[in-house]
Amino acid sequence: MTPVGTAILGAGFSGLGMAIELARRGDRDFRILERENGAGGTWWLNRYPGCACDVPAHLYSFSFAPWPGWSRRYAPRGEIQAYLQALFESWALDHHTRFGTEVTAMEWHPSPGLWEIRAGDGRRWHARRVVLAAGGLARPAWPEIPGLDTFRGRAFHSQQWPSGEPLEDRRVAVIGTGASAIQFIPEIQPRVRALHVYQRSAPWVLPRRDRPVPGWRRRLYGRLPGLQRLVRWGIYWRLEPRVLGLVHHPALSFLHRSLARRHLKKQVPDPALRARLAPEHEMGCKRVLLSDDYYPAMTGGNVELVTEGIRRVTPDGILDDSGSLRRADTLIAATGFQATRPLPPGLVRGRDGLDLAQAWQDGPVAYKGTTVSGFPNLFVLLGPNTALGHSSVLLMLESQLQYVGQALAWLDRNPDRALEVRPGAQKDWNRRLQARLSTSVWNRGGCSSWYLHPETGHNATVWPGFTWQFRRGLRRFDPKAYLRPRIGRERAVSNA
Ligand code: NAP
Repeated sequence: MTPVGTAILGAGFSGLGMAIELARRGDRDFRILERENGAGGTWWLNRYPGCACDVPAHLYSFSFAPWPGWSRRYAPRGEIQAYLQALFESWALDHHTRFGTEVTAMEWHPSPGLWEIRAGDGRRWHARRVVLAAGGLARPAWPEIPGLDTFRGRAFHSQQWPSGEPLEDRRVAVIGTGASAIQFIPEIQPRVRALHVYQRSAPWVLPRRDRPVPGWRRRLYGRLPGLQRLVRWGIYWRLEPRVLGLVHHPALSFLHRSLARRHLKKQVPDPALRARLAPEHEMGCKRVLLSDDYYPAMTGGNVELVTEGIRRVTPDGILDDSGSLRRADTLIAATGFQATRPLPPGLVRGRDGLDLAQAWQDGPVAYKGTTVSGFPNLFVLLGPNTALGHSSVLLMLESQLQYVGQALAWLDRNPDRALEVRPGAQKDWNRRLQARLSTSVWNRGGCSSWYLHPETGHNATVWPGFTWQFRRGLRRFDPKAYLRPRIGRERAVSNA
């Protein structure tokens, strides 16, 4: 059986975007392998109440597939997933896709120049090229708290919210006050008997000013796509300058800092509670959150903000560092993702058996966030240093899609060659990147965040610049940055 041209791992924005990029180039020789049973990636997985995107919907969608029907300024999860499902259907991706397929190992064989991909259930594929579109925020991070496994009640991570979880009349403990927690806390607060929110560090919260998009405006966008593009363009240019305050001059964020402080003062009348909800790190050091209802929820009579550290979890609740035990029936870990360790060991083995998780043990590195030295014909979408603190990550993704599209077209034109980024090119790219990051608020803002590797402090996550600088860097595929080894002759391979 002939090998697949391109295997795409993941059916979220990245994986579907890659499939569409290939289809637009007239290449239908690809297969999408997805662990879950539907398309959507993070928007399929995260189903906690109130889940939505905090980037305006017109910018949090593909530029080549505008959707006039967004019901709100910030799209709820269900609408984003429906948008991706609609793309999946309109590009007829179903017969290219294998859902329920968890890839457990992939290995590069220089002769015949193919990736061998194995699924947990024993199925096997061979592919000339692999696009890793698994997302950096897919592996939940459980907190390392003693006694967690002894808890007798219900315990789950925010990303694994059980469908129909009954919270009525429950005593609920929430660990974490990040982007996920501040979205579901206002939703569950009115339903539960008691809510204990364990905050390690207070986030900066700006008003979200979410509102419905009136029907007439949606109809207008449908009739005048140019108008919707104009709105998108306006949002883009409103958000883009914010990176200056994050990378170059924290002082430039003063307007946002005072807006956030006023927001807190207006929504939390009690000065003692307000003081405990006030962030201590530089704004932007962690992701700045947007919410209109988080602070009001925290003032609820059934809510207690706990700022003492957690000593341990007991079978009945949580014991804090001051010795107080708060009983709980449900424990929700809103503790984020293993962003600096996005892959398990042994999943991806490149040239000479090199393990990608091992190569990335001090923090992920890549060339242009996309290719990794030692891993021929492998392309990573939303890879190292492609996350943003100020705008839509889909802008970064689209730059990568057309770059990878060009690289794959180069491989089509040179079927006897592989592409592997030169170590020197990767080093240079990262040297410049890390130099810019070294003065940024992410590295120097006085907080620990998922942007930084917990042991090395290496910032493997954020792009320190304007999105158009990244786009410019990836506009043209640059074969000279790559080793182009001749690959061995093909031998018979099997595909599941
Ligand atoms: P997160 O932002 O990493 O927040 C994790 C929270 O858990 C933080 O408050 C952290 O405290 C706390 N925490 C972690 N370990 C802890 C421990 N051992 N004890 C006590 N507290 C602990 O995670 P997230 O809220 O799931 O969001 C992750 C990312 O997903 C976001 O930054 C964003 O990129 C994405 N996201 C996006 C949206 C959106 O609207 N676009 C929505 C949700 C998520 P510290 O702050 O002290 O570390």
